[in-house]
Amino acid sequence: AKVLLTGSSGFIALHVLDQLLAAGYEVVGTVRSDEKAEPIRKELAKEHPNGKYQFEIVADIAAPNAFDAVFQKHTDLKYVLHTASPFSFGLTKSNEENYLIPATHGTKSVLESIQKYGKNVEHVVVTSSFAAIVNRDRSGDASFINDEKTWNPITWEEAHNDAALSYTASKKLAEKLAWDFIKENNSTFKLTTVNPPYVFGPQKYSFGLARASLNTSADFVNKALKTTTDYKGPFAQPAGVSCDVRDVAKLHVLPLGKEEYHGQRLFPINGTGYGYEEYEDGKFNFERILRTLQETHPELKGKISPGGIKDNEAELAKLTYYKNKITTDLTKLKFYTFSDTIHDAAKQILDFEASQ
Ligand code: NDP
Repeated sequence: AKVLLTGSSGFIALHVLDQLLAAGYEVVGTVRSDEKAEPIRKELAKEHPNGKYQFEIVADIAAPNAFDAVFQKHTDLKYVLHTASPFSFGLTKSNEENYLIPATHGTKSVLESIQKYGKNVEHVVVTSSFAAIVNRDRSGDASFINDEKTWNPITWEEAHNDAALSYTASKKLAEKLAWDFIKENNSTFKLTTVNPPYVFGPQKYSFGLARASLNTSADFVNKALKTTTDYKGPFAQPAGVSCDVRDVAKLHVLPLGKEEYHGQRLFPINGTGYGYEEYEDGKFNFERILRTLQETHPELKGKISPGGIKDNEAELAKLTYYKNKITTDLTKLKFYTFSDTIHDAAKQILDFEASQ
């Protein structure tokens, strides 16, 4: 079957692309420019010599009718995985132009093109976020559990003056738009969303490491590796809930062709899995990244910051509470542990640096 993968040069999407090809799907990937496709083609030629794939240029997902030409050309697309969305803080334009417009217009424009031209599309998977689930005002409150059924109550008016809040609001509003769209248009295709919290883990291809800055979440491990023993903090930030990029990719591919995933929001978390309810392993802060690195790579002891928080359990208890039983019951998966995710991400960075 033929699958469209938007934003296929992204951190998450490159893992999705790999898993789609390994599963035998034919892939049409959108990228912003041919320059972005070139290094991917080189890697795929090595890893998937018999894989069926091609790239199409969609320079700006937020432009009106951005995806029309793609769907007019590829009338046999059966599945659409929409991962493209801006995710880098420190962009230069207004929060509206950096986040809200690309995220919501991008999602709308894919869905509109499918509605118009994607007659054979059966199922769409949209990469949403834990940002669309989380009730941040209930952080530290163990009586409020964020899960596949909860929604971030934030409005654009509350978010627009702050870049981080704008990102979270843009993801919530883009996901909501998708669910509303299929209802309002009586769409024949079905929808599933993947709602990852902070995504860690290795880049699919090490050319990703050569970029000036890594994607925000992947860069936390990089930053921790670059600390020195006299680093003064902050240790409590960044903090949040985490998952592994390889699990996120799996949750994009697994639902294809399976009715039980229609209408579901899938929520991966480090250390969770089918058959046991243990939800502590996915809570992280910078302190935990530093400590974990020294456990997984003992040679880093005495080189990077040892951390600075005495009772980190108490610190982590201030974060949001969550569960993902719907996801683990449905998928029967066991997700990567925080330690394995951090280990693999760090190993890739350290090996890459040693090879330079
Ligand atoms: P990346 O920045 O690596 O990937 C985003 C992709 O979208 C890139 O290929 C990027 O292209 C493309 N893109 C962004 N804006 C536009 C635009 N206006 N027009 C065309 N293409 C665009 O980030 P991730 O892989 O982490 O993110 C993928 C998805 O996962 C996003 O939807 C993100 O919101 C979501 N997500 C990520 C989390 C994380 O912690 N990483 C957590 C939760 C959700 P280019 O690189 O050329 O700009």
